[in-house]
Amino acid sequence: MTIFSKIISKEIPAQIVYEDDLCLAFKDIAPKAPVHLLVIPKEPIATMADVTPEHEKIMGHLMVKAAQIAKDAGLAEDGYRLVVNCKNHGGQEVYHLHIHILGGKKLSLF
Ligand code: 5GP
Repeated sequence: MTIFSKIISKEIPAQIVYEDDLCLAFKDIAPKAPVHLLVIPKEPIATMADVTPEHEKIMGHLMVKAAQIAKDAGLAEDGYRLVVNCKNHGGQEVYHLHIHILGGKKLSLF
């Protein structure tokens, strides 16, 4: 159980920008860019290292929705960055898989 499970169940608030049966997208609480959104599966997959072929549908869904959400946020013309941090070396803090959408300015390379 992570903080993101509580956002899915609406036990704690978040600025939700998109929701469907399979995923949720909301504003990051500590944005690292002018636009910083998180796209998460409702199914609690902990990390990218836990993804298996069974997750093909949800992982495809997350990527398709990330593109739509980024477009709806006005990022499609100038572009944006998608980031998935994995475990300790990747800098993952919340162990519920999530795609960061970062944009709204020219981003530096790490
Ligand atoms: P990670 O480092 O795991 O890839 O990213 C976790 C992200 O979740 C961070 O960018 C952090 O700011 C964000 N975050 C952590 N707790 C909350 C929260 O309670 N609400 C929201 N909206 N974002 C959160």
